[in-house]
Amino acid sequence: MNRRVFLKTVGMSAVTVTMAGCMGRGGTSGKTSQQPPNIVFVFPDQMRGQAMGFLGEEPVLTPHLDRFAAESLVLPQMVSNYPVCSPFRAMLMTGRYPHANKVTSNCNSGSAPFDCELQESDRCWSDVLKDKGYSLGYIGKWHLDSPHTPFIKCKNNSEKFAWNEWCPPKRRHGFDFWYAYGTYDYHNRPMYWKTDAGREGFHFVDQWGPEHEADLAVNYIKNEGGKYRDSSKPFALTVSMNPPHTPYKMVPQKYVDRYKDKSLEDLCKRPNIPAADAKFGKYYRNNIRHYYAQVTGVDEQFGRILEALKQQGLEDNTIVVFTSDHGNCLGIHNMVSKNNRYEESMRIPFLVRWPGKIKPRKDDLLFSGLDICPTLLDLAGFKRDIPDVVDGKSYARQFLTGKGKRPEWQWYMWTPVGKPQWGRRGIRNPQYTFVVSKAEGKPEEVFLHDNVNDPYQLKNIADEQPELVTFLRKTLEKTLAQYNDPWLKTV
Ligand code: CA
Repeated sequence: MNRRVFLKTVGMSAVTVTMAGCMGRGGTSGKTSQQPPNIVFVFPDQMRGQAMGFLGEEPVLTPHLDRFAAESLVLPQMVSNYPVCSPFRAMLMTGRYPHANKVTSNCNSGSAPFDCELQESDRCWSDVLKDKGYSLGYIGKWHLDSPHTPFIKCKNNSEKFAWNEWCPPKRRHGFDFWYAYGTYDYHNRPMYWKTDAGREGFHFVDQWGPEHEADLAVNYIKNEGGKYRDSSKPFALTVSMNPPHTPYKMVPQKYVDRYKDKSLEDLCKRPNIPAADAKFGKYYRNNIRHYYAQVTGVDEQFGRILEALKQQGLEDNTIVVFTSDHGNCLGIHNMVSKNNRYEESMRIPFLVRWPGKIKPRKDDLLFSGLDICPTLLDLAGFKRDIPDVVDGKSYARQFLTGKGKRPEWQWYMWTPVGKPQWGRRGIRNPQYTFVVSKAEGKPEEVFLHDNVNDPYQLKNIADEQPELVTFLRKTLEKTLAQYNDPWLKTV
């Protein structure tokens, strides 16, 4: 049998065989620096940056993340610029400022009239990787489509107001393996659309969401029989888990049991947790054990994904990222949730591992959501393919060498639905959090926290520091001007 006939017989092109010869099982191996790296992006929802055991900030159990942190670049100052679901996710996909990508609020039926959804025309990091020959998989929560009538009949959707929507294939930005949903907060019986399912073709699964999604991620990585992806290509897999998200009580008992030796007092060490008899103090105490249990469950499932990469010999040439879309106050500062300026809401995990390329260390780099898209593309070797309209900056050089430009501030935002010129804008760094709120018909409000002397942000010192406020306001305006934010002209 000559080579041509052999190739024809096994159904592969010469190009495929040549590429496969350079790769490890099921993707690119680290032995061949010419091959682009695989990417595994694990992305639980609403996991605050403080809730990782190795940081020593909270009594939460995350043994897998603790081990992974020792092998990774850890960015403890990472924040979510707009700490709520869809705006962060759209920034992550596009690298563009919310006003540019149109996702200035959460995607639901209330924001749908304002075309508030990921635009089909935007070029996302996944579109670039698709064009570079990657296989792309998306598992879990997407939340980047506007619901339309008739709304899909499921939890999270009522007849009058809806969150959940199917993402048609033309809106998937290059992801060829799809096992996802829009918004669906029922962790013990999650729902999904498979790649080829139509709008009515969703299905339910009687398994805790993160566990089911990790099962699938492991299968995708193993790719037995080429069932999930083209083994000759590099791959990028996103696993977007819903927990640690409400309802917190929907978590397997085995994860709650890991905390059975800890009293409620043991779990409530942050000094800014409201008093036990206060409304929000009660809320915190009623939920923290299960929030931590969900984090521990996510950690365990993340560990299984890491193990699959190891078993398949894919560790070396796979960039693994662990992050979240925003944090959560759980009652701290009398806030039950996120979408505010406080550290518990804004700070998110960010760990990235690439053996032999990214040196494991902690760095207080002021990285944030807008920068993920360009940085990932640059790391993977596609700096020239970062779309011109991207607002974020690549810090790949910082990741790889610890050298290069470093940001001085991270920006913060919230806008009311349909009125992106109003709302809150701010800047934050390890020293200060400064926020100005413009609400229609109300006087402007200014907030300033000294994050060094008041790390739990118990005091607004804006009135005590007029000169500092003037300086920070100028810095804020300069920051927003580079994105043409219409808020600057709102009076
Ligand atoms: Ca979210």
